[in-house]
Amino acid sequence: MEKKYDPKQIELKWQEIWQQRQLFQVQEDPDKEKYYLLEMFPYPSGNIHMGHVRNYTIGDVVARYKRMQGYNVLHPMGWDAFGMPAENAAIARKVHPAKWTYENIDTMKSQLKRLGFSYDWDRELATCQPEYYHWEQWLFVKMLERGMVYRKRSSVNWCEDCQTVLANEQVEAGLCWRCGNVVAHKDLDQWFFRITDYADDLLGYCDRLPGWPDKVVTMQKNWIGKSVGAEIYFPLEKSEDHIAVFTTRQDTVYGATFMCMAPEHPMVLKLAAGTPQEAEVQAFVERMAHQDKAKRTSEDYEKEGVFIGTHCINPFTKRRMPLFTANFALMEYGTGAVMAVPAHDQRDFEFARKYGLEIIVVIQPEGAPLDPETMTEAYVGEGLLVRSAPFDGLKNVKALGSIADYLEEKKLGKRAINFRLRDWGISRQRYWGAPIPVVYCEACGVVPVPEKDLPVILPEEAHMLEGGRSPLPTLESFLTTQCPKCGSPQARRETDTMDTFVESSWYFERYCSPRHLEGMFDHKAVRYWMPVDQYIGGVEHAILHLLYSRYFTRVLKDFGLVDYKEPFTRLLTQGMVCKETKKCPDHGFLYPEEVIQKEGRPTCKHCGGPVEVGRIEKMSKSKKNVVDPNLLMEKYGADTLRLFCLFAAPPERDLDWSDQGVEGACRFLHKVWRLVADHVEVLRGVEPFDGSQELGGESKDLYRKTHQTIKRVTTDIDTRFHFNTAISAVMELVNAIQAQREGGCSDATGRAVLRLALEAAVVLLSPLVPHFADELWEAFGHTGSVLEVSWPTYRQEAIEEDQRLIVVQVNGKVRSKFQVPADTDEQTIKAAALADERVVARLAGRPVKKLIVVQNKLVNIVV
Ligand SMILES: [Zn+2]
Ligand SMILES: [Zn+2]
Ligand SMILES: [Zn+2]
Repeated sequence: MEKKYDPKQIELKWQEIWQQRQLFQVQEDPDKEKYYLLEMFPYPSGNIHMGHVRNYTIGDVVARYKRMQGYNVLHPMGWDAFGMPAENAAIARKVHPAKWTYENIDTMKSQLKRLGFSYDWDRELATCQPEYYHWEQWLFVKMLERGMVYRKRSSVNWCEDCQTVLANEQVEAGLCWRCGNVVAHKDLDQWFFRITDYADDLLGYCDRLPGWPDKVVTMQKNWIGKSVGAEIYFPLEKSEDHIAVFTTRQDTVYGATFMCMAPEHPMVLKLAAGTPQEAEVQAFVERMAHQDKAKRTSEDYEKEGVFIGTHCINPFTKRRMPLFTANFALMEYGTGAVMAVPAHDQRDFEFARKYGLEIIVVIQPEGAPLDPETMTEAYVGEGLLVRSAPFDGLKNVKALGSIADYLEEKKLGKRAINFRLRDWGISRQRYWGAPIPVVYCEACGVVPVPEKDLPVILPEEAHMLEGGRSPLPTLESFLTTQCPKCGSPQARRETDTMDTFVESSWYFERYCSPRHLEGMFDHKAVRYWMPVDQYIGGVEHAILHLLYSRYFTRVLKDFGLVDYKEPFTRLLTQGMVCKETKKCPDHGFLYPEEVIQKEGRPTCKHCGGPVEVGRIEKMSKSKKNVVDPNLLMEKYGADTLRLFCLFAAPPERDLDWSDQGVEGACRFLHKVWRLVADHVEVLRGVEPFDGSQELGGESKDLYRKTHQTIKRVTTDIDTRFHFNTAISAVMELVNAIQAQREGGCSDATGRAVLRLALEAAVVLLSPLVPHFADELWEAFGHTGSVLEVSWPTYRQEAIEEDQRLIVVQVNGKVRSKFQVPADTDEQTIKAAALADERVVARLAGRPVKKLIVVQNKLVNIVV
C-alpha cells in the first residue's frame, strides 16, 4: 500500500466502486428489520454549504452504522425544487426557473456524491416534476370533495417584495420569513386546508413523541395554542344583533366595562357607519392595516383605539359598554372582539386609564381592598368575587365553571375552546409551484379538474415577469380551458400555485416508491418503510414543515392511504455551523480571502485598513463568514471534512468553525494511515485475535482497550449520536496501538491482538470516514466494503480489568485493605494507602518514617 494518504485518489476510486456495486440501493425485505433514515431534503439553491455538509454527514453516519448492525436501511435524497428563490434568481438571470433549478440539482448532486453519502440515488425525486405534483393535485381534488379544502375571501398576509401571500406560520414577528420585509394585509380569494379540524389531535399527540426534542414539542404546542373558556354574546344597544366574545376569564364578566374589536373585524365599519365617529374609525382601520401585528400586540406597545360610536350591553350587569376598535385586538384570536375588564387585565387597564373608562373591581384579594381610584395596575391574582351578584364570595377560579353553567342555562353564551392555529392558506400568486387543480366556469362555478385530466402541468412556455408577478393570469394558452362539467370553452383555470410546503409534507412517503405511477405511493412499500425512524434537520423547521407534515399524514390516514398518524418517530435538530465575521470599516463584511496578514495584523486586502474580527455567528453569505466545502474537499478530501464536522461538536449543538480543527482531523487520518502502512506487511496472513488464549502484558492491555473502545463507540453513537466522544475513544485506541509498537509484534499472539486492534479502529471509523476505511480494509487483504461487515460487538470479560487486593500494614499490623487494577504503579498505590480513612485515623498526623510498596500485594508503613 501507499506510504502516504492521498484522499483524492482514494475517494474517487471508492465512490465508483460503491456505485458499480449498487451498494446503497435497497428493496423491501420482509425478513429484515427496516430502518428509515432521512435528512430534510435541500432546496436546490446552487451549491451545497457547510450546513448541508454537517446535516448530511450526521445522517450518513447513522445510515451506515445501522446498516452494519444488520438493518435494511432506506436513505434517500431528493429536491425541494419549487419555490420563490428559483423564480427570483431566474428573473434576475433571465433564464427559466426550470433550467436554473435542474442545473443546480446537477451541481449539488455531484457535490453530495463527492462527499461519499450513502444515498439510494435510484429514489431521487424533485418536487417540480409533474409525476410528483400530479399526486398532490390528486389529493387536493379528493380533499375538496370531502370539504377538507375551501375557498374564502379573506385578509391575508401579503409580502410586496415576494409578490405573494404568506401563511401565518411564514410571518415571523411581522416580517416575511423569506425576505425579511414587513408583511402587509390584503383581501384575496384563497384556498385553505382545514388544518384546524386536526388541532386537538395534533396537540394531543405532542405528548406521544418521546423521540422528539422537548423544545420542538413545546414550540408545536404553543403554536397550536389551545385555550379553554367561554363564548359570551353581548347584545348591541340599537339592533337585534350581538357581538360574540371568546374569553378564558368568564369569572370577570361582571367587571367588563367596555369592548375592544380588532380593526379587521367585519362589523367595525358597519357599526361606525352613520355615526359621528365614522371618519375617524375609517382612518384608524386603514392605518392599522399597515401595522405589524406582532408589534401591535406586544406588551410594551402603546395601546390605542377609537370609539366606534355605538354601545353594547353586558348581559350580566345590563351595563352599557362603549365599543372601541383597538390596536391590540386581533382577528386571529377568538372572535376578534375582546370584553375589556380593566380592573383585572393589564392591557385593558392601560387602555381604560388612557381613555378615562370605568374600572370595576370584581375580584378582591385578601387584605387591603382594591380601589379603582388608586390602582396603578390591574390585579391579576386570585381572590373572592365581589359585585358579581349570585357569585359573590366564590373563589374566582371556582366560579369559572359556575359562570359557564349559568351562561349556558340562560343562553347568554356557551363553553368554548379556542385555538391559536388557523387554517392553512395554500394559495400562492407565483409561477414556480404546483398549479391548484380547479377551473372556474360561469355556469358551474368552481369545478375540480377530473382525475383523468391530471396532472395540470405548469406551462414551461411562460415568460418570467419583472417584480415577480406570475405570468399565469395573462398566459392565454393556460388560462382559458374547457369546463370539465358543462363543456363551455370559456372556463378559466386557477392561476395560483400551491405553497411549496405542501410538496414537503409527503415527500418522505413518495421516497418509498418514487416511480409508482398509479398513485401517491405503493401501499406495500409505505407499509414496510414508514414511519421514518430518524429524521434529521434544522430547528428552523420546528413549526412549519413538521406541523404540516404531521397534519398531512393525518389527512392521508383519513383517506385510508396510510395506517399511522405520526410520520417521524425520532427527530434530531442539528445545530448551526458558525464562524467569526470579519469587517472593514470601508468595505463592510469580508471573505476570509479578502483579509491578509500585515505585520501580524489582519488587514483589508482592498484598502490596507485594519479589520475588525466580529463575534461568532451562523455562516451566511451576507456576512461573508462562509467556507466553501468544495475548496475544502479539494484540499483535504471529503473524509477530513466529514471527520471535522463530527468531531467539532455534538450534533444538536452549534459548531464553531476552526481551520485548526480541520487540520487536526487531517493529521489524525494521516496518523492512522501510517500506523496501518507500517504494520500491514508484518500482519499479512495473521488472523485477528479471537480471545481463545490467556494473554499477558501489553497484548492483554491492548485487547482490553480494543473491546472498551468498541463498547464506548457503540454506546456513543447508539444512544445520543455523540460522534465527537466516539472519535475521541478511537483516538485513544490508536494512541495505545502506537505506544506498544515494538513489543506488540514480537510474537504470534501479539501480532494477532495488534491486527484485531487495528482492524477495529478502521471498522469503528468506517461510518464516519468511509473511503478511508474501505481503502485500509482492502490493504488488510479484505475484499468489498466495510459497509458489508457486521458492526463489532464487545466482550464483557475482555473489558473487566484484573483487580488485586492490597494489604496495608501500619507498624507491622494489618490496618486496611483495598482493590486496585493489576499492575497499578507504586506511586498510585502509595497515594491510595495514605488517603485511606482507616490508615489516616491510625497515623493520627504522625510523620511517616518509612514506607514500602510491594506491587500487587502490600504497603508497609512505619511511624
Ligand atoms: Zn418576502
Ligand atoms: Zn361549466
Ligand atoms: Zn477595506
